[in-house]
Amino acid sequence: MRSDSVLIPEEEMARQRDLALEVKALPHRPRSYFVVTYGCQMNAHDSEKIAGMLEEMGLLPAPRREEADFVIFNTCCIRENAERKALGNVAWLKEIKRQRPEMMIAVCGCMAQEPGMAERLLKQYRFVDLIFGTSNLYRLPELLLSRLNAGAPLVAVDDADTLPEGVPVRRLRHDAAYLTIMYGCNNFCSYCIVPYVRGRERSRREEDILREAEALAAAGVREIMLLGQNVNSYGLDSAGKPLFPSLLRRLDQVGIERIRFMTSHPKDLSNDLIAAMAESAHVLPQFHLPVQSGSDPILLRMNRHYTRSQYLDRVRKLRAAIPGIGLSTDMIVAFPGETEADFEETLSLVSEVRYDSAFTFVYSPRTGTKAASFPDQIPPEIAKDRITRLIALQEALQRETLSRFLNQEEELLVESVSRRSEEAVSGKGRHGISITLPGGAEDIGKILRCRIVKVKNNTLIGERIP
Ligand code: SF4
Repeated sequence: MRSDSVLIPEEEMARQRDLALEVKALPHRPRSYFVVTYGCQMNAHDSEKIAGMLEEMGLLPAPRREEADFVIFNTCCIRENAERKALGNVAWLKEIKRQRPEMMIAVCGCMAQEPGMAERLLKQYRFVDLIFGTSNLYRLPELLLSRLNAGAPLVAVDDADTLPEGVPVRRLRHDAAYLTIMYGCNNFCSYCIVPYVRGRERSRREEDILREAEALAAAGVREIMLLGQNVNSYGLDSAGKPLFPSLLRRLDQVGIERIRFMTSHPKDLSNDLIAAMAESAHVLPQFHLPVQSGSDPILLRMNRHYTRSQYLDRVRKLRAAIPGIGLSTDMIVAFPGETEADFEETLSLVSEVRYDSAFTFVYSPRTGTKAASFPDQIPPEIAKDRITRLIALQEALQRETLSRFLNQEEELLVESVSRRSEEAVSGKGRHGISITLPGGAEDIGKILRCRIVKVKNNTLIGERIP
């Protein structure tokens, strides 16, 4: 989809900024906020935008949700568990709101956009003040103002595909930043709810992305993570050719030291993208390439548009062009109709590829998706057995694959003090693998060189190199 057709006009964005100032001037507005975030990086970045807009309206972050005047649940609905957890946490605030009736509660994000969810929330969670979907996020100033001036809960979950530019962002980190390049998804994998709640693909204009990247570089950001549901179909040109490789080549020139991206669809991984990665100085040698299953009949039922051998061919090309590249994946077991033979195909693919890491899931039906109505759902005991076997295999192989880093030099951007020791810090290496090494809070935001001395589960342990 061409971006111009869904771009929110500048006048509308200016109107939202004016409305934010109007909220700020209100004597009875909330003074503090707390955003609870579920799900993926897209949601984490949306929460940074929510925080950015709220701060323009004069709100300050609260240390705990129960102390905030305005609590926003930015939800995920990719799995039923995430949804249940979010609803449980919303319900938990009911009693607090009873004691502090001026507290406001909003539910937004993918779950809010799910068909029928707004009605359910209005009926069963009457204490919720505001419900808004992913397409209406940029309208938060208008929505909050209307809610403050009205007596009743407000819902804004229309499914128009929008592309807002210039939403203020309050970034959680100063050294690394998310940068959304596209929204939505056109793929309709048969198990996935995302196209229904995040709309069709729409790509930001290249000049807007470059401008944002340049501003981040000027602000001292050292790493950017390009975000999109399917980044490698970014900006289809009039001939239907993706423009992601050319975007990467241009971003490589803006002065950001490390560039990462996610998520990619194997069917859109072109030779040109591999070449762009191999040529670039700053795009890191790592690739998250969700395979989901190693069995062709299951891939077909999942509507994934690639075969096992096409997937393996792309892995071979990536490894040939970028030796040592870090590969990670997502896999679903017990998809409806998955036989033992299908599952063994997944095991054999895992043995063949030897991923550095894998996110493994038991299939969970999502109402509204095609696969939820497939008749041949897999019994839970079989699903449990398969996921256990898959995890055991991946962990055994991972120990071997990660041992290729032993005695090698790596480089990490320090993210935080280690959770296990105050005298250690951790961050991601160039290949996308977590590294822990001696250090302290003063190292956060620095890029450090190290030699890998040990592999511990899915983490590399390093020694600093001066
Ligand atoms: S590519 Fe498939 S799994 Fe990924 S968001 Fe789109 S529909 Fe969902």
